[in-house]
Amino acid sequence: MIILVVNAGSSSLKYQLINMEDESVIAKGNCDRIGIDGHLSHKTASGVKVEKDCDFPTHAEAFSCLVDALTTGEGAVISSMDEISAVGHRVVQGAEVFTKTTLVTDEIIEKIDELRELAPVHNHGHALALWACRKILPNVPQVVVFDTAFHQTIPQKAFMYGFPYEDYEQFHVRKYGFHGTSHRFVTAKLAEIMGKDLKDLKVVSCHLGNGSSITAVQDGKSVDTTMGFTPLDGVLMGTRCGAVDPSAVTYVAGKHGFGVSEMDTYMNKKSGMLGISGVSSDFRDLDAAVADGNARAALAKDMFNLSVKKIIGSYVAEMGGVDAIIFTAGVGENDRSVRWDVCEHLEYLGIKIDPEKNKYRGKQMDISIDWARVRVLVIPTNEELMIAKDTERLVNEAKAQ
Ligand code: ADP
Repeated sequence: MIILVVNAGSSSLKYQLINMEDESVIAKGNCDRIGIDGHLSHKTASGVKVEKDCDFPTHAEAFSCLVDALTTGEGAVISSMDEISAVGHRVVQGAEVFTKTTLVTDEIIEKIDELRELAPVHNHGHALALWACRKILPNVPQVVVFDTAFHQTIPQKAFMYGFPYEDYEQFHVRKYGFHGTSHRFVTAKLAEIMGKDLKDLKVVSCHLGNGSSITAVQDGKSVDTTMGFTPLDGVLMGTRCGAVDPSAVTYVAGKHGFGVSEMDTYMNKKSGMLGISGVSSDFRDLDAAVADGNARAALAKDMFNLSVKKIIGSYVAEMGGVDAIIFTAGVGENDRSVRWDVCEHLEYLGIKIDPEKNKYRGKQMDISIDWARVRVLVIPTNEELMIAKDTERLVNEAKAQ
């Protein structure tokens, strides 16, 4: 079965064509600058690269262009779209409406679009891509996989905010959590590696990238996570401030004379590792700056590592123990100093990293010392493959009915 995975944003449409026989990526690319002008970058598994400027007034033209890139010209990998069995779409916000991966109908797309109030940057783009795909490939089943769905098992005492209850009921203000597809992928992989049922493991899954979130998984379910109503909450991130005292937000806004949207930009784009270090949001740049003796870059990394360590401690307390800790995504898979500092002095919890094993990066590996009671693993995430697997399963289930 060949599955097309689509990750649409407000002005971009990333895609991967995956062969489910061997889970290999046949081709991938990005339609960028939708609504501005348009650019396609396309790359096949055999190394053919296609770059071209296009005209993308809407997601529909971008989708047509990716169909062309896959089926015609030097980057073609299939002879017609009939070879594609299904399309799986990443959707950021499913709120309380969507608790699992779902087959697409017109009503489902309308509902996703309605939820855009809760995810202004993302959901409308998803809906536009879904309509475009439905129009251009009317006979191909489509599936939506939600970043929030995995976290719908979080108990109410952990997802509520301390605002008046009526505002939860009326405005749906609560913790939703994100990166669910990644946390689901790496925890399933962990169970496979450990040869255990995920239901028998207590896991802290650390997705540390440009955006970071940490999730506590118990009985195979998400029981708490650090991102909240939006992906701004939780640990310090590349350009996001993470959790702060809400009163500091109103105070700073007053001092700068910022309105709501300016304050939103300040917290999402100008804060975090970039704001603290004044150097970069990229951990590679920060590591280089630390090596050069830059004190603010060192402070940013210390703050990041401490924020992750504190969450691990609180999730161990919440679950009443821990069997495994996972590091994944750009930073978690690659930055050995982050892994080392986060896990340092946690021997009393049974956590101890082997410095030799921790030298490796970007590959699946148990990096804990042999005698450690808690296993610490690096597991590269693959959200696209998870979406493709969900899509394959749902399409097969639908066929069987
Ligand atoms: P996103 O949230 O955008 O998906 P990624 O998971 O791709 O982010 O992670 C991007 C982050 O990973 C960047 O800050 C980058 O610096 C970091 N990263 C990638 N490779 C390395 C490396 N070798 N060492 C340290 N950090 C790395």
